[in-house]
Amino acid sequence: MTPQRLPLLESVFCAVSLGAIVLDQERRIVLWNAWMVRHSGLAHEQVLGHDLFEICHGLRGGRVDAAIQHALHNNFPSLLSQTLNKAPFALYARGERIQQALEVTPIAVDGAARHCLIQISDVSIAVGREKLLREQAMVLRSQTFSDGLTGIANRRHFDVAMEKEHRRAKRSSTPLTLLMIDIDHFKAYNDHYGHQKGDQCLIQVAAALAGMLKRPCDLMARYGGEEFAMILPETDVEQAMLMADAIRARAQELAIPHERSSDASQLVTVSIGIATQKADAPVEIEALIGSADRALYQAKRGGRNRIATV
Ligand code: GH3
Ligand code: MG
Ligand code: MG
Repeated sequence: MTPQRLPLLESVFCAVSLGAIVLDQERRIVLWNAWMVRHSGLAHEQVLGHDLFEICHGLRGGRVDAAIQHALHNNFPSLLSQTLNKAPFALYARGERIQQALEVTPIAVDGAARHCLIQISDVSIAVGREKLLREQAMVLRSQTFSDGLTGIANRRHFDVAMEKEHRRAKRSSTPLTLLMIDIDHFKAYNDHYGHQKGDQCLIQVAAALAGMLKRPCDLMARYGGEEFAMILPETDVEQAMLMADAIRARAQELAIPHERSSDASQLVTVSIGIATQKADAPVEIEALIGSADRALYQAKRGGRNRIATV
């Protein structure tokens, strides 16, 4: 190498916008570029000639340590992606620890023992973008499965949960209950109080009834309009009737005035159809929904504000 090229190379080494460290065979720091000074807060004179692992204690025994051993002793290069070990070096930018991708390369030096070059690139922006995308995907997913007005599970969520619980009930030979809950005289409520009040009523009823579910496997969904569906796994007919009546009573307890209701209370009420699949006699999902619908129709015909089973 011609003598004038050396200072030029040194300047290039310092100007590159990634971290660069060169170690000798004893893992002593021979070069530490300006990027490293800027982001580690350690000046050349604090690090040059020192063992890298004295300067950066956290690296000992980790993947960077192993990669350096490989480079120096086996002449073997390594790439350490940001996914497993996000920030091995204590480097900071914008007030935060830099997320890093590392490349450890053996360097043959004529007539001297092998050295090793560590290149560190700042991948914080890519990692941040990935995190944002993951978060957005989660929000989108939750929006896909929840009802826009009431915030409870939507019909699609119901379909997926029903499939899952139906399969589980068959596999484990346990009963499965489906409740169809419909607000009584809701058309008259809308006509009398207006659509906005109607929406408020739906939100209030949905929240109160969904709040009654205690087990994580239970699900209440908005089935459509002013009709809700509840999936209650491992619930037999007797338990289902107790639960349905508690729900009916809870709706009435909300004491939402409904002057056009046929009910003597003049409050918003619900009717509930119950369908239970017995542990030893599973039926198709459509048949279970059909039974709950028929039971609901009976509850309506029976005078509303009541529960029915077929
Ligand atoms: P029943 O006691 O037999 O159930 O009578 P109903 O009036 O409740 O039943 P019907 O199916 O005739 O009317 C349902 C009404 O629910 C009609 C519709 O305007 C109203 N509705 C459906 N979805 C919404 C909604 O998102 N917001 C509001 N405000 N009203 C809704
Ligand atoms: Mg109704
Ligand atoms: Mg209805």
